[in-house]
Amino acid sequence: MDMSFSPEDQAFRAEVRQFLRDRLPARLSEKVRLHQELTKDEIEEWHGVLNEKGWLAGNWPVEFGGAGWTAIQRHIFEEESALAHAPRILPFGIAMLGPVLQKFGSKEQQEHYLPRILNGQDWWCQGYSEPGAGSDLASLKTTAVRDGDHYIVNGQKTWTTLGQHANWIFCLVRTNSTVKAQEGISFLLIDMTAPGITVRPIVLLEGTPEVNEVFFDDVRVPVANLVGEENKGWTYAKYLLTHERTNIAGVGFATAGLAALKRIARAQVANGRPLIENPLFAARLAEVEIDLMAMSTTNLRMLAQAAAGQVPGAESSMLKLKGTQIRQAINDLTRRAVGPWALAFPSEALEGANDDAPPGPAEAAGATRAYLNNRKLSIYGGSNEIQRGIIAKSLLGL
Ligand SMILES: Cc1cc2nc3c(=O)[nH]c(=O)nc-3n(C[C@H](O)[C@H](O)[C@H](O)COP(=O)(O)OP(=O)(O)OC[C@H]3O[C@@H](n4cnc5c(N)ncnc54)[C@H](O)[C@@H]3O)c2cc1C
Repeated sequence: MDMSFSPEDQAFRAEVRQFLRDRLPARLSEKVRLHQELTKDEIEEWHGVLNEKGWLAGNWPVEFGGAGWTAIQRHIFEEESALAHAPRILPFGIAMLGPVLQKFGSKEQQEHYLPRILNGQDWWCQGYSEPGAGSDLASLKTTAVRDGDHYIVNGQKTWTTLGQHANWIFCLVRTNSTVKAQEGISFLLIDMTAPGITVRPIVLLEGTPEVNEVFFDDVRVPVANLVGEENKGWTYAKYLLTHERTNIAGVGFATAGLAALKRIARAQVANGRPLIENPLFAARLAEVEIDLMAMSTTNLRMLAQAAAGQVPGAESSMLKLKGTQIRQAINDLTRRAVGPWALAFPSEALEGANDDAPPGPAEAAGATRAYLNNRKLSIYGGSNEIQRGIIAKSLLGL
């Protein structure tokens, strides 16, 4: 029995586990397990299954069509989903825009956009970063100039995750450049099919076009698409980021990754013995596992604080930093565990000259792909250097 959770929460965990057993298609979980890229249809398929059950938006209040879960229930759902290799719920509509519209959007915006996020009519992407504005986000330059009942938008966003699938983008735009940077930013909802928008893919290290550049050339956006007040966008943007940083520790992903690593290390042979018995490898494995146990405890402590009504502060920076370090360490060890098979460039291994299965153990191509793709973990959601700065200032008082 899991002593960290109340009987109600343990019952909830059992319910989630059963649901995943019954409703998660093996076809999808196998792709997730092997770190293969999911298609748009596959992502939407899983969103549809969850929405039917009323579980797509665990973080939304029931009045907006959400499940209204507690922080602990959300943690349990995320952990069980990761362990079952379920596709991850896309954060852009559910975790990011939804809470902003619920708190700051007009009634019309709430009634129009929120149901469309749930039923999959709209696919949202996040237009925050620009070529000259990442960590220093407030220096963003994309402009929105008022022209009657429209804004005219010009500029460029970058690193827009899965923007190639999106029909809407929420953007931070500059509506006043004569005041302090943070005070001249607005939060605008933009139809990606509007004339003047160009989306250009950026191919990541492992060969997938997961992110994009988005260009705006005299794009006309109705003033009705402004969220909240003009020039107050920074407040809404910060509110959104606190939601972006939930589940930041990724305990479930790390736990699932560690279990997979142990399976591989048991099956692989080094010098005539299972790799897991190699003292050097075993020591590195133990180090990561201990780190994960410590982080898991810290995570639960924070969840308990949240349940008691406290707002997490710089502690979430600790979880982001440690969580991403642990996941990257697991990716690194997994790549080492599959040995020379990890050298195959994933696209070559997967496509091959014919229809043969990729060489080596099933996990080989996925190991390299995950290793390369997850370099992003320490960059997005506030880079790890930025998190160290926050920890130094807020927790250590430096
Ligand atoms: C795969 C991926 C997906 C992304 N998806 C999206 C998305 O969908 N939408 C979106 O808007 N953005 C997205 N981003 C952008 C992401 O938020 C930024 O990359 C991130 O904020 C860092 O900004 P930057 O890339 O401009 O780097 P910079 O801010 O230029 O930083 C460069 C380096 O300097 C360091 N640095 C910067 N400032 C400091 C400081 N004050 N102290 C110490 N070190 C510092 C950084 O840590 C980094 O190592 C994505 C990024 C990646 C990699």
